[in-house]
Amino acid sequence: MSSTLFLCQRCNQPLKLSQKLRTMQEGPLETQQHASPSPRARTSSSPLPDWGQSSQSSSCSTFSLLGELTAQRTLNTIQNVVLETFEILSGQKDVDHPLCVDCTDNLLRELDAQLTVVEADTQKYRSFLERESLVSEEEREAMHVELWAELRSLEKEEARLAQELKDVDRQHARIEAELRAAQAESRELEQQEEQDLKDYALLTMEELELTDELSSVEKRLAHAQKQLRRLRETDIFNITFTILDEGPLGIINNFRLGRLPGVQVGWNEINAAWGQAALLLFSLSKTAGLQFQRYQLVPCGNHSYLKPLAGDGVLLLFSDGSHRIFHNNKFDRGMKAFLDCLQQFVEEAEKKEGLFLPYRIHVKGGMLEDARDSGECCSITTHLNSEEEWTKALKFMLTNLKLILAWASSRYCFKMEPDWSHFE
Ligand SMILES: [Zn+2]
Repeated sequence: MSSTLFLCQRCNQPLKLSQKLRTMQEGPLETQQHASPSPRARTSSSPLPDWGQSSQSSSCSTFSLLGELTAQRTLNTIQNVVLETFEILSGQKDVDHPLCVDCTDNLLRELDAQLTVVEADTQKYRSFLERESLVSEEEREAMHVELWAELRSLEKEEARLAQELKDVDRQHARIEAELRAAQAESRELEQQEEQDLKDYALLTMEELELTDELSSVEKRLAHAQKQLRRLRETDIFNITFTILDEGPLGIINNFRLGRLPGVQVGWNEINAAWGQAALLLFSLSKTAGLQFQRYQLVPCGNHSYLKPLAGDGVLLLFSDGSHRIFHNNKFDRGMKAFLDCLQQFVEEAEKKEGLFLPYRIHVKGGMLEDARDSGECCSITTHLNSEEEWTKALKFMLTNLKLILAWASSRYCFKMEPDWSHFE
């Protein structure tokens, strides 16, 4: 006979027949296979005595075929098996499914517990019945009254507790609302905190940028102060204007002013020299705060000129040499006007003392007089004048300008410094 697989009907674990039982089943029942197709169908949920190999001690669940199986099967037991098989096959009896030993023990424990409960209930009912039979009618009435009173008291208590429950519910709802409000406020505060952190980061970045900018400005300021100190030590007049009066011709900023029969200086150079002289006198007057009377001096390179304050037209400080044939021409009048302005400055400077010039200026005749030695007078006009005289007059004028330049350098350079103290 091939091995047959049994499953526990509760836990579905496979059941293993004990070896002894299997031997007993397979031996005597072999002849039974012809009569019964299901020799293992004789089962029961009640356990049989242990066959030596206890199912509880086996790691695999085993189960025992129930019935009157003995080592020596009698005809009676075989008849019983056949009978039960017949009943099962004819539907007169249900087949009990097998159970493993553990499930069987559990089932028995459950049934024992139910039995205990049922017995306790039965005992209670019995005691009640006995008490009821012992209580008299009056006592029963009194007991009913007492129970009714207790019931009313309990109903009041229930109503009170229900009211209390409502109060607690209301309080719970109020606290929930407060909790929701607090959570909303908390979320708002978190958003605010997040925004504050962003603002803080922006401000920090701005602070860094401003610190960088401040550092840059401080460096520029230090550089500017250094430049300022260098400029303070610089004599602006002396480095801008250089006048040489050695030799027959006066020279200003490398431009010769005047011409001689043997030294034919170009008119462009003479005009440029006049432009430098005009620029020098203009700068000196600005520095001294002197406003010229009668003329406005306009330094304009080799096309410098003067504008009379009364009347139209201009007086030139440049020429191409063709002016000399005309009396009182614009060039001569321009040079005389320049002398006028120079004399105004000299008079202004003499008021402040410290200025002594070697050549006296006669504005009306356009003359320069050597006041130190010979008393020689030279005219600055060109009409009916020799080149030598004219050039000498120009050299006198440049010598005066050179001394005025030195005087102004010592007097005005430190006064020209603006007040930078608030930058330091
Ligand atoms: Zn089981």
